[in-house]
Amino acid sequence: MKVAVITGISGQDGAYLAQLLLSKNYKVVGIVRNLNQRLHGLEYLNIHDQITLELCDLWEQASILRLLSKYNPDEIYNLAAQSSVGLSFEYPVETLKFNITSVLNFLEVIRLFNKNIKFYQASSSEMYGVVKELPIKITTPMHPLSPYAISKASGFWTGINYREAYGMHCCSGILFNHESYLRSHNFFVKKVVSQAVKMLKDSSLLMYLGNLDVNRDFGYAPKYVEAMWLMLNTDMPKDYIICSGKSISLRSIVEYVFDKLNLNTSNIRISSDLIRPTDILDIYGDNTESVKVLGWNYDLDFYKVLDLLIEEELMNNSLMN
Ligand code: NAP
Repeated sequence: MKVAVITGISGQDGAYLAQLLLSKNYKVVGIVRNLNQRLHGLEYLNIHDQITLELCDLWEQASILRLLSKYNPDEIYNLAAQSSVGLSFEYPVETLKFNITSVLNFLEVIRLFNKNIKFYQASSSEMYGVVKELPIKITTPMHPLSPYAISKASGFWTGINYREAYGMHCCSGILFNHESYLRSHNFFVKKVVSQAVKMLKDSSLLMYLGNLDVNRDFGYAPKYVEAMWLMLNTDMPKDYIICSGKSISLRSIVEYVFDKLNLNTSNIRISSDLIRPTDILDIYGDNTESVKVLGWNYDLDFYKVLDLLIEEELMNNSLMN
């Protein structure tokens, strides 16, 4: 039986990845910061009892060494991060320090302990920031526009450095935005869908949003985690762009959700507090390599994903007919 360690198991991707690996008969070790914390994603997917939870302090190499000595895993999926672009402007030092140090600590311990352990790093399309040409390819120069993006770019290059310098199997998945029912409430799509569903019960609720005239390439998280596993289970370690290949505007997402639920958009307020100091106007990627080399297949239109998210949100709010 293969053993996989997942950091960030309490997050959206951690839960769906754990579900996928269990379905492939892995022993899954999930890293948490506190053994008493509620793991809503694992509970929601009903897999909580099948995961071995471990405390591991990603700031400390000794803590990671203890973990690897105990399990000698085949694969490590490093998903833990301060993952919000917005929060990274409020906590730039913490974001940079944690998102960079945790990657370096893992790679250094793997190098010294067992270089055959395969390592997946959760990288992000945000690393590209301002680009001269779309779609984004792996060769597109990076111009990160937030502390989060800078931290992710550093983690990305650290992985490449360990691959090139020590021949380690490190892969970065450069994932574009991906959504699900398990996304945290501070992320745009989840916020719009969940608050809109609440507005069905209480028409006096207001929804505060930031700049809606930006475009993003959005996808569906349960499908995106499949690409993570494929990367560690393909012979040649490489980095891959994982995206839908199309962008849509935040405004059209709001309009679609409100229209679908027969809500009036007059309850939406634009708040200057939610407008970022710097923002990417449009971004979408090219997934040709991941489809061709990894055999990853993705053909979900984002409006179909929105239909799924709305349906799941309604079901969990007991508002279905
Ligand atoms: P998420 O739901 O925000 O989860 C983040 C995870 O990181 C949580 O499990 C959190 O644990 C953990 N974490 C945060 N700070 C930590 C710290 N100081 N020490 C230990 N653990 C810490 O993120 P996600 O959407 O699943 O994304 C997974 C990864 O992919 C992240 O690295 C994110 O940056 C990256 N990514 C996501 C997207 C996307 O669209 N979702 C796109 C590109 C890249 P706690 O519960 O203990 O806070």
